[in-house]
This record gives sequence, structure tokens and C-alpha cells, in this order.
Amino acid sequence: MPITKAYSASAACSPLVLSTIERRLPHEDDIVISIKYCGVCHSDVFMVSDAWGFSMFPMVPGHEIAGIVTAVGSKVSKYKIGDRVGVGCFVDSCTSCATRNVDLEHLMPGLIQTYNCFEADGKTMTYGGYSDSIVVKEGYVLSIPDNLALDAAAPLLCAGITMYSPLRRFEAGPGKNVAIVGMGGLGHVGVKIARAMGATVTVLSQSLSKMDDGLRLGAERYYATSDTNTFALLAGSFDLIICTVSADMDWNAYLNLLKIDGALVILGIPEKAIPVNALSLIVGRRSLVGSLIGSIKETQEMLHFCGEHNIVANIETIDIQDINQAFERLEKGDVRYRFVIDMASLAA
Ligand code: NAP
Ligand code: ZN
Repeated sequence: MPITKAYSASAACSPLVLSTIERRLPHEDDIVISIKYCGVCHSDVFMVSDAWGFSMFPMVPGHEIAGIVTAVGSKVSKYKIGDRVGVGCFVDSCTSCATRNVDLEHLMPGLIQTYNCFEADGKTMTYGGYSDSIVVKEGYVLSIPDNLALDAAAPLLCAGITMYSPLRRFEAGPGKNVAIVGMGGLGHVGVKIARAMGATVTVLSQSLSKMDDGLRLGAERYYATSDTNTFALLAGSFDLIICTVSADMDWNAYLNLLKIDGALVILGIPEKAIPVNALSLIVGRRSLVGSLIGSIKETQEMLHFCGEHNIVANIETIDIQDINQAFERLEKGDVRYRFVIDMASLAA
């Protein structure tokens, strides 16, 4: 088994440290990828701290992977050595059910996540992108458009698709008023994508401290949610609100910002149950829905869309040796707007 360098956590909340892991020898439908960059999603922080109660250790986080193909199995047809590719939040899924044909494999129980999961054999743990290589089935590898820099494209593999999917599903486009709640890793990419789709974009942030960036990235309006006037001013304004916040908040106040038939999409995972008044939904026939990443087909579509519109994340590149400080900074919201690990530092 090939040995790979990685940064791993040995237990909940323990720091990430240099270690080695085994990757499988490539099967006939596998691709070997030399990981060049890996984005740091806030989910990585939650997973290492076992915030959701299903973390397994040792854990190598990372599901915003961008790299170069270094070997392909004998039956691989889509990729060749040297191709620029990405891997997102999952590396395998249930293929025996009909849902595979409707591209909802990311919502099926058989989903095998890029890390913190067992492979199809039920015993081999999956390890993520904070490492120097990964072996993935061809069908779960994405092609990264040539015009997008690999480092800034890496966050598209999670942040990009997580925003693109609900924006498409709820038909963000010309004539639609879309609000993005939280100008973080997901939120700032969402502003760019929604604007490129033709929607009128508003950012709802805790403060106005990132307003210049938000307007530059494509938002038309930017409001502070700490200002209670915001909620009176914007009542009934939006066709779609996408919420990237994982903290507790007043959901009824946000639902009240929707137009008739508007939808509020939950992406972040607050610790406590969400209290919602039935009347917040009934009046205005509003919806409160969740969304989870996107299928492989939709992720490839998103990458093509980002290629056409030159959309990448705004990133701060770090060496992997600085990952624990990056986690601390991410928890404080101190990043503009996504940390991306330069995996060349792993060789140092
Ligand atoms: P992030 O970069 O930390 O951004 C989250 C943003 O939320 C912050 O930038 C901040 O924006 C806002 N925020 C933070 N604390 C807040 C508080 N106490 N009250 C109100 N707003 C607060 O995180 P991310 O990587 O974008 O991830 C966001 C969430 O999405 C995480 O919970 C992650 O686990 C989840 N996620 C879900 C999916 C999915 O498929 N559903 C996929 C990936 C990630 P402002 O400073 O602008 O207020
Ligand atoms: Zn993620």
C-alpha cells in the first residue's frame, strides 16, 4: 500500500499533526491524484471537534481538493496523467438504486464521504485532502476548467457546489431578489455565483465590516443583521434567502423577509433545534428547506459555470504547518474568505 503524508487528528479537539496514512493501490477504475491545494471548510473544524457527534478518529479532514492526475487505472477513460482535477465531499455512493440516474446520489444513505466514513468494504476508513495524494474512482473526480487557478478553485468543490445547488434549484436569475446570510467561505462564493446567474444579490452580515468586499464581489445591497431596522426595512423583500450561518438566530425574523412563496434555505447546522412559528410559514406561503452539497453531475456543471464566469474563491493560502492556527482563526471569522492549504508545504 502506498504511504502518504497527511495531517490528522487523533481524537476529538486534538490538534492536527503530521502523520502517515495508507492509500489503496489504484483499481482499474481509479485515479491517483497528487493533491496541490485543499480548502479549509468550516465543516472540517466542526468534524475535528466532533461537534455533530459522529466523528471517527484518526481523522484526516479536507473535502475541497484540487490536484493533478498522476496515474490512472486500466479502465479509466475520462482522465489522463497531467489533468487538473478536483474531489469534493464524497468519493463513492450507492450505485444499485434508481436515484443514481436522477443525480441525487449525494442524498442517498450509501454515500461515502471523502473523510470520516468507511469505504464500501465497511472497514477501510476514508481520509481527506489534508494529505499529499488521494486515490478516487473516476466517477467521483471532477474536471477543473483550465482558466481557473487550482488554489482558488479548490473551495468550489464544497463551498461552490453548496451555494450553486440551491441557487439553481430555486431559479436564482434575472428579476429574483436573493439574500445571502453570512459573508464567509460559502457566502462570498454564493454572492459571486448568484450575481453571475443574473439575480439581484443582498448580503445580510452581522456587521458592515465586510461591506466593501461584498459590493465588489457582486452584491447590490449589504445590511447588518445586528441593526434591528434591517428587518423592518427588508420585510417581504426576497424570493430566496440562503443561510450559511451555523449559530442560533431568530428564524422567524428571517422568514419574514421573504416574499409570497419565497424560500429560506438552511446550509449551516445550528447546535440547537430551530424554533419556527407556523404563522411565519403560513402567512406568505413560505418555505423553510435544507440543502446538502450537490451531485457529481451538478458539481461538474457548477465548475463549468464558474469557468465561464471566471469565478473562484477569495483565498488566503497557508502552509499545512499553520492549520491549527487557521482553525482558530476560522472559528473567530478571521479569514478573507477561505483558507487554502498549499500542499507543497507538506514536503518541507
Ligand atoms: P465560515 O467561513 O465560518 O462562514 C460562516 C459565516 O457565518 C461567517 O463568516 C459569519 O458571516 C457568519 N457567522 C458566524 N458566526 C455567526 C453568529 N454567531 N451569528 C451570525 N452569523 C455568524 O463557514 P463556511 O465554511 O462558509 O460554512 C458555513 C456553514 O455551512 C458551516 O456550518 C458548515 O458546516 C456548513 N456547510 C454546509 C454544507 C451543506 O451542504 N449544507 C456544506 C458545507 C458547509 P458574517 O461575518 O458575514 O456575519
Ligand atoms: Zn465543506
